[in-house]
Amino acid sequence: MSAILIDGKKVAADCKKLIAEEVSQFSGRKPGLAVIIVGNNPASRVYVNGKRKDCAECGIESYEYALPEDTTQEELIELVHRLNEDENVDGILAQLPLPDHLDADDVIYNIVPDKDVDAFHPISVGRITLGKYGFVPCTPYGVMELLNAYNIQVYGKHCVVVGRSNIVGKPMSMLLLHSNATVTIAHSKTTDLAAITKQADILVCAAGKRGLITADMVKEGAVVIDVSINRNDEGKLCGDVVFDEVREKASYITPVPGGVGPMTRVMLLQNTITAYYNHINK
Ligand code: NAD
Repeated sequence: MSAILIDGKKVAADCKKLIAEEVSQFSGRKPGLAVIIVGNNPASRVYVNGKRKDCAECGIESYEYALPEDTTQEELIELVHRLNEDENVDGILAQLPLPDHLDADDVIYNIVPDKDVDAFHPISVGRITLGKYGFVPCTPYGVMELLNAYNIQVYGKHCVVVGRSNIVGKPMSMLLLHSNATVTIAHSKTTDLAAITKQADILVCAAGKRGLITADMVKEGAVVIDVSINRNDEGKLCGDVVFDEVREKASYITPVPGGVGPMTRVMLLQNTITAYYNHINK
């Protein structure tokens, strides 16, 4: 049996179309997203350009604040405070990583929770833990939407999440838990990873270690979601899962690229729309 391929590009394109249609119905001010980028990190530049292009395609205004490498913490926080007050700005995000001399946590804590479209602020994290959330971190949100798009039931399933980072593993586990899954979180100190992953009905891999998940670590018929983005020896993008062998055992599988990645981008737009509604209904 070869797994059904979960086509993140297609699901993301469909979601984007719906968002664009929704935004086109808004009269007056359009939703606005402020993106802060500091310094000259080439990867950050690519991400910011992608975010701005997505916004433009959906009728969302994006405002870029490109600051020089030597920006001080005070200058950055002052900008965040200004954007907190800006009536045209519904969502604020600071593209990470910031240069080493800047404190990213301090920047995130200074974004008002109502505009925290990355959902990294402790208040957003707390709301997610309580199951009373508005914003959801884009990558786990995208995974949930992919499962939904393929009618993959989470309720009652054993979900194993490999990775416990604040932006992927932990919120992913919470969202699955709120959907009534039984959740196990594995991480770099887990002693027998295979024994855990083999129990998964739904396996979400977010370790950032290529080749980590081989077919013998996957239960027959499992749903395998590969969040990670690594490079193989030829420099091509790949996930944690050894795709060719695991796809023969899984029932559904995401490719890398073209799986979770495109969904992450779209969920930022969705969070911006949520911020817009909150803002205009205040
Ligand atoms: P991270 O480095 O912050 O966290 C990795 C986690 O994996 C850690 O909790 C660690 O304990 C665990 N881990 C590491 N080695 C392991 C091992 N051998 N066995 C079990 N667990 C192990 O990374 P992150 O920010 O959570 O990102 C994870 C991956 O997802 C990266 O490849 C990243 O590029 C990718 N990512 C993709 C998207 C997307 O849109 N597709 C978004 C964010 C991150």
